[in-house]
Amino acid sequence: MKNNEDEKDSCQDQKSMKYVICVPDGCADLPVPELDGRTPLEVANMPNLDSLAAKSILGRAEVIPSGMPPGSDVGNMSIFGYDPSQYHTGRAPIEVAALGIKLRPDQTAFRCNFVKVVDGVMIDYAGGNPSSDEAEKVIAQLNRELGNPDEGISFLPGVSFRNAMIAPMDFVDAVCVPPHDLTGDPVVLPSGRSGQKISDLMAASEEILAASNLEATGIWLWGQGTQPQLPSFSEVNGVNAGLVTAVDLVRGIGKLAEMKVCDIPGATGWYDTDYEGKRDMALRELEGGLDLFIIHVEATDEAGHAGNVEAKVESLENWDSRILKGLISGLEDLGPWRMLMLPDHATPLTLRTHTPDPVPYLLFDSEKDSDGGVFTEIGVSEMPLTQGYQLMKALLAN
Ligand SMILES: [Zn+2]
Repeated sequence: MKNNEDEKDSCQDQKSMKYVICVPDGCADLPVPELDGRTPLEVANMPNLDSLAAKSILGRAEVIPSGMPPGSDVGNMSIFGYDPSQYHTGRAPIEVAALGIKLRPDQTAFRCNFVKVVDGVMIDYAGGNPSSDEAEKVIAQLNRELGNPDEGISFLPGVSFRNAMIAPMDFVDAVCVPPHDLTGDPVVLPSGRSGQKISDLMAASEEILAASNLEATGIWLWGQGTQPQLPSFSEVNGVNAGLVTAVDLVRGIGKLAEMKVCDIPGATGWYDTDYEGKRDMALRELEGGLDLFIIHVEATDEAGHAGNVEAKVESLENWDSRILKGLISGLEDLGPWRMLMLPDHATPLTLRTHTPDPVPYLLFDSEKDSDGGVFTEIGVSEMPLTQGYQLMKALLAN
């Protein structure tokens, strides 16, 4: 700050602390052969991040509590400050929350994928990626033929192959395998007390799909859960928060936590997302009165799933040049600020799927220089392990 001392004092009396959380989804990795055994975080040219890290507290966070699935729903719930082992009920209820739907206590929500199964083998968990318009027509047909208002069964259109089903509470009692875990393998039908009822619905959908224009051969029901009881973020933490993301799961957690969920047209969930738009949205909302803002970018995770080394490194460099650079100078103008940066899980390029391994985190305070370090997997490998959901308290601590 270049103000003279008097101005600085009066400024800081008025200016409250601002908080930013940066989530490069799935950015943590394992050594990559193409990168001579280094990780994308080690290789990416990130001068702005490096200079923050040199004054930050760094550590290792367990964002996926042991025994829980390493999904973005679980990891982001941790980052938002909620212990997933206490609050996570399933993936589907978070997705329907993103659609603005609140489940009644006697209801459970399922993810309803369109899938392609041939000779009992899961060929495509995305059912040929139908357009949302095409998918919606089939969802309407499913409602006419399999929906049952008396029994409380209904189907909800989502995006492309990602749709939902609402069912009575007792349907929750089943073990359903995610279809993307079955790719290329014989299907494993739902088991447990309600497994048969769910299998029956899946079997009955085959005739409807056969008569449709979709490549999919049926529906696959999974990820079920009841309404998560997240207490309001502002009530728990005493600060108002908002977020920007292209991902429904992350948006859903924001809605459940009663945060301000901001949208920008250029948020694609892909490599070409509008980095500057997300940065500017954060600065605008913080200047406009929010205390805390979460910026979530999916690109690093997608690159991990695709095994695309170059895209993963470039997505990190985009974080640095297109978000952090302008964000840091913008925050300096707003007054004192803190930043928490960490991914919601690792998506190693060599494995092309999520892992529950601990991830690096960085906590920066513009008013307090810390010992600093390097924001990489190896840079924090000797650090003690912190529960991911406790980092919110550390970020907001007086
Ligand atoms: Zn994720």
